[in-house]
Amino acid sequence: MNEKILNPYYDRLPGSYLFSTIAKKIKEYQGTHANADIIRLGIGDVTTPIIPAAIDAMHKAVDEMACKETFRGYGPEQGYDFVREAIVRGEYTARGIEMDPDDIFVSDGSKCDVANIQELFATDVKIAIPDPVYPVYLDSNVMAGRTGVFGEDGHFSEVTYLASTAENNFQPDLPKNPVQLIYLCSPNNPTGTVLSRETLQKFVNYANENGALILFDGAYNCYIQDESLPHSIYEIPGARTCAIEFRSFSKTAGFTGVRCAYTVVPHELSKLHAMWNRRQCTKFNGVSYVVQRAAEAIYTPVGWEQTKAVIKGYMDTAAMIRSELTAAGYTVFGGEHAPYIWWKLPNGEKSFDFFDRLLATCEVVGTPGSGFGPCGEGYFRLTAFGDHEQTKVALKRIREKL
Ligand SMILES: *Cc1c(COP(=O)(O)O)cnc(C)c1O
Repeated sequence: MNEKILNPYYDRLPGSYLFSTIAKKIKEYQGTHANADIIRLGIGDVTTPIIPAAIDAMHKAVDEMACKETFRGYGPEQGYDFVREAIVRGEYTARGIEMDPDDIFVSDGSKCDVANIQELFATDVKIAIPDPVYPVYLDSNVMAGRTGVFGEDGHFSEVTYLASTAENNFQPDLPKNPVQLIYLCSPNNPTGTVLSRETLQKFVNYANENGALILFDGAYNCYIQDESLPHSIYEIPGARTCAIEFRSFSKTAGFTGVRCAYTVVPHELSKLHAMWNRRQCTKFNGVSYVVQRAAEAIYTPVGWEQTKAVIKGYMDTAAMIRSELTAAGYTVFGGEHAPYIWWKLPNGEKSFDFFDRLLATCEVVGTPGSGFGPCGEGYFRLTAFGDHEQTKVALKRIREKL
């Protein structure tokens, strides 16, 4: 095969992937330290088993599949009505937001939805992404040839970066140059911080005035503890004419291995709604019936109580990380409305240098902030998804040895 037939833009993807670099460093350390007792606070995956209400719903659905009368084959590409209606009731009506079940597109993950959505847009549209942020928004646009070339400064030439740092209280300014697609992530992965109502209103106004579209990733909305903070972009007046929202059961309900998410495309964005529907019908064949029954069960009263209890467990761990590091004199952000703690490294230490030092002195692993964008340099991400007692041990080591 002639390599000239390959998509050239894949070669523009920046370096080796963050997590493979980290895995390699850990392996090297273990190679030279036979008795290493490494505690991982870098894990970006849930660890608590799926709640009983969802497990019961799956068992029941499996039994339905075994019986001629209740067997189901292909379902609607957009998701079954029972789950779309449950999502509207549980997520939107409950917060006073009007939503039509037809605006909900159920899928097998937010990662694929946020990566796939960009194919609905012209190749020459300009994008803005938060810095730092979940790498999928950028990488999917790199693959599509929309980002220009990667420069010395760690930026792509055609991308507008929305700096989110302690200096601006993690509330990015509006893009300096004209853009048509704006990615936002709140609560943010990796900083664990939440965009305020004022910030979101500013972006919604910008989008409506400039004919732009906001792609709002709310994967962690269920971790928001303060009811007055915006959970959905649709709490902001004007959002229905300029915003798509991505939500996932992965972090909400421990579905990272089960796979279920949804994307909201309001019918006010009628052309886009029709295009996403067409895209899903052509390239996607729906989420399994068994899994959609599990998602529906999250919204039963007992399912919701169980779900909240699991989230509270993670948030208790997050609170412990925050208070221990703060007591030790460090500056940390996040961890109040998200399972991520964003640690500002003292004395201008570089993220990857700190990774090595933390591993060598404490045998604790986290994620270097620079892996999430240039503005992440000088920060470090810890997560609250690990075992509570193990995390406690890690914090004791940090207090005593670092
Ligand atoms: C984990 C995560 C998702 C969810 O991805 P799934 O494919 O639904 O598992 C989406 N966005 C962000 C920012 C995440 O951290």
